[in-house]
Amino acid sequence: MSQNSTCPVCGAPTQASTRPFCSQRCADIDLGRWFSGQYRIPGPPADEENLEKPEINDER
Ligand SMILES: [Zn+2]
Repeated sequence: MSQNSTCPVCGAPTQASTRPFCSQRCADIDLGRWFSGQYRIPGPPADEENLEKPEINDER
């Protein structure tokens, strides 16, 4: 059963060297999803997101 694993990113057969993904590329994609997902902290309403971040115009 474990040999029939598929990549959670694209669904291709998993490679042993890059489990649980089919390739390093998909591993990176999944990692990126994790990081981007962590930026969206569940809980406060979306409107408060603007209040939490004051307008910082850092003109360089
Ligand atoms: Zn994949």
